[in-house]
Amino acid sequence: MKENLFGKTLDQLGGIVEAEGLPAYAARQIADWLYGKAATGFSAMSNLPRSARERLARTWGIALNPPVKSTESADGTVKHLFAADRGGFVEAAWIPEPKRSTLCLSVQVGCKMGCLFCMTGKQGFQGHLTSGEILNQFASLPQRDKVTNIVYMGMGEPLDNLANVLDSLEVLCADWGFGLSPTRITVSTIGLVPPMREFLARSRCHIAVSLHSPFEEERRRLMPVENVYPLEEVLAELRGSMARGQRRVSFEYILFDKLNDTPRHARELARILNGIRCRVNLIPFHPIPGTPLTPSPRPAMEQFEAHLREHGLLATIRRSRGLDIAAACGMLSTRELVRARAEAEVRPGWSGCRAPDARLDAAESGRPRTGFRARAPFPFPFSPMQVS
Ligand code: SAH
Ligand code: SF4
Repeated sequence: MKENLFGKTLDQLGGIVEAEGLPAYAARQIADWLYGKAATGFSAMSNLPRSARERLARTWGIALNPPVKSTESADGTVKHLFAADRGGFVEAAWIPEPKRSTLCLSVQVGCKMGCLFCMTGKQGFQGHLTSGEILNQFASLPQRDKVTNIVYMGMGEPLDNLANVLDSLEVLCADWGFGLSPTRITVSTIGLVPPMREFLARSRCHIAVSLHSPFEEERRRLMPVENVYPLEEVLAELRGSMARGQRRVSFEYILFDKLNDTPRHARELARILNGIRCRVNLIPFHPIPGTPLTPSPRPAMEQFEAHLREHGLLATIRRSRGLDIAAACGMLSTRELVRARAEAEVRPGWSGCRAPDARLDAAESGRPRTGFRARAPFPFPFSPMQVS
């Protein structure tokens, strides 16, 4: 299979044109065709000599892969399912609102982080998406021209796939790329400290950190990452970067009934976030099978929001969108995974989704691999997609 040119940064295109013996300015011309003019083949690149186009076409492809399935919810949210190059499926959700429309992108097939409440985590890790595959979820959509905001809040942990995520952000924001404003893009992370440091240094996009409990022991039970990168370290890193002039950050906080929605939690949250210019997004929990967790009732959510505000924090409850179609990360793809595996059982030789990795690669993290257990895929997923 030819490697895909779509998703390459200008620097990478520079290296490619040099290797193909083309003049350096051809890189910018190609970028303009790929991202500005949405060319789907080399033949359209009329300002490149025919010989150059033929040479490029021998080694490179330009592939945009439309969703294999799209489902529209009663509230207008459209959930798209994409087949990943190396097997498995990922989801993107397009969420229209009166004054803007947000696209939620995935970065990995499954996830290594094993959060107790997350359907994607239950799938285990099956692979990284390339920058081209991340951008394909935007570029191949019928709603593409209506997208005003992009959130990296779909499947997977963006900072565990940092190189591809940074490349995709560069293409989204560059004048030679899609020309979007970095202030309209938010990357959500569980808080992997070394790649977070690099992200904060290299990207001007917003960052949202999934917090979910201010208490170490409790957070550890919800999110095994706490064993490796304690929240305290994550917050210290954010404080450092803000002191160096970084932007405001958001914190994601799922509300679980009687677990993390008490006045004690609100007080502690206000204490640990003191001095960080931030917003706290309160997320309704969407129950998934196999966890003892239940959602906070609406009045408890509102009370928690009020407590945070009393403590001086900017806090808002997020609305859930597209629940009728499970506009929810991990849900459609898990369903598809289960279907594909069932088909594989009657179709010998099928080589679709691979078995999930068991653990985060310690060499990548440079830390002990405590707690990063992937889980077996679940047959009946329910998991969320929230927007503010
Ligand atoms: N891996 C990144 C981004 C993808 S998850 C992260 O964890 O931040 C995007 C958001 O969805 C995170 O805040 C995550 O905590 C939340 N989420 C996952 N499962 C959920 C569920 N069942 N109910 C509500 N929110 C959930
Ligand atoms: Fe991965 Fe985020 Fe789900 Fe945790 S919440 S398992 S980090 S996708």
